[in-house]
Amino acid sequence: MNLEDTIVAIATPLGKAALSIIRVSGQNAIITVDKIFKSPRDKKIQDLSSYSALHGYIVDYKHPEELIDEVVVTLMKGPHSFTGEDTVEISCHGGQLAPRLILKQILNQQVRLAQKGEFTYRAFFNRRIDLTQAEAVLDIIEAKTDQSLKQALKQLKGSLADFIVESRVELLNLLAYCEASIDFPEDELDGFSFEDLPQSLVKIKERLTKAKETADRGRVFKQGAQITIIGRPNVGKSTLLNAILGRERALVTEIPGTTRDSIEETIDLNGIPLKLIDTAGLRDTEDPIEKLGVARTTALFEESDIVLAVFDLGEGMLEADHKIIKMLDQEKTIIVLNKKDLQATIPFPAPLEAFTPADIIYISALKKQGIDDVIKAVTTKVLTQLPSFGDVMISSLRQEKALEQAIIAIESALQALKSGLSIDLIVVDLREALHNLGSISGEYITQDITEEIFSQFCIGK
Ligand code: GDP
Repeated sequence: MNLEDTIVAIATPLGKAALSIIRVSGQNAIITVDKIFKSPRDKKIQDLSSYSALHGYIVDYKHPEELIDEVVVTLMKGPHSFTGEDTVEISCHGGQLAPRLILKQILNQQVRLAQKGEFTYRAFFNRRIDLTQAEAVLDIIEAKTDQSLKQALKQLKGSLADFIVESRVELLNLLAYCEASIDFPEDELDGFSFEDLPQSLVKIKERLTKAKETADRGRVFKQGAQITIIGRPNVGKSTLLNAILGRERALVTEIPGTTRDSIEETIDLNGIPLKLIDTAGLRDTEDPIEKLGVARTTALFEESDIVLAVFDLGEGMLEADHKIIKMLDQEKTIIVLNKKDLQATIPFPAPLEAFTPADIIYISALKKQGIDDVIKAVTTKVLTQLPSFGDVMISSLRQEKALEQAIIAIESALQALKSGLSIDLIVVDLREALHNLGSISGEYITQDITEEIFSQFCIGK
């Protein structure tokens, strides 16, 4: 990708819409648009000050008397634009035709079509944003809930970028002292003593570990927490799923075994994206645990962030229920006692004594009673399971892996210190940690990784 080129793309989806935006960025952006732009008072875009707009018409490049669309152009001069280059945005009418015709007029003038994510890549290349912020742009576009969006915005503003810079500065200082002590072993180094080095490294390591622990939170906000509904046939799993979804999605029936495939829905519960999975397909047996096989059940439970274990108060606890209870991991289970409408007085089922009362909810899925309590319990449990660390949140596997490598390198430095190894070896570890932190922000990163990241973007972003 040649970054000297001026690029153009339609930044909004084509289709019926009031407006569409065409973005042009690069050294020829202003003259290119000026050539096909006519303002009623003959004003030129090149005479505008940055961050101002001008109303006018886009005209045919070869036949300027032919109007193509009425538009507003906005000028953002480099280096204070998103890409760091001169950028002109043309707001034209929506639909299929106007944006395409304007695009064609621009492409006629030796401007090339932007590649996927190229505007954001240029912002990264021109150091307007770091790689964590570029990833945040993608997260904003793909945000499923308002909480996901808020978190991505914090990252775009630089919450993770700042944290990485701070941690790198701390490490760099320690590295500088260590290197100086190699070069000038006799000299006293102001403000630094080797006795303090392990403590300083432990502090940095703890902070990095806390940041790394937020990766689960990042995963949940991006992809959704997995909530699996489990229970023997006919206890009301589908009815509960429908009640939570607030609409008929799963097929509800009085005959067990009707729903063949498992049903998955992603919903927004109090801002948290949740993937609800109804373990259908297990229903052609009285004993879902046996049918599923212990290994698969264990895997299913492990994959789930929360398990909603549903029991039937009408029928009481049967053999199959006891088996399910034995499989449950209390930490992530919410017990749902369904069909409370069938019981005037509800006895507390003895096999559940080990569970805390807050995790046991009486509902009637059919009458939609207690559904809010289930929703609240799920969201509370998801959030308490997810460690937070201020505004810092790790939002991709790439970031998590690099952080993990940095922590391993610091641990290795600590081990070397403990074993009384030469300072040269500690320096190697600190450099390694710095390198890994740098790769998070994109300081040291290979071409294929950047390409992989930016290829996930849409054209025009
Ligand atoms: P699943 O096999 O566990 O998914 O169970 P379903 O959701 O298909 O429900 C089985 C039967 O129980 C259906 O006839 C539902 O109408 C009924 N049912 C579900 N929830 C309740 C409830 O809260 N009260 C009563 N009385 N019936 C319910």
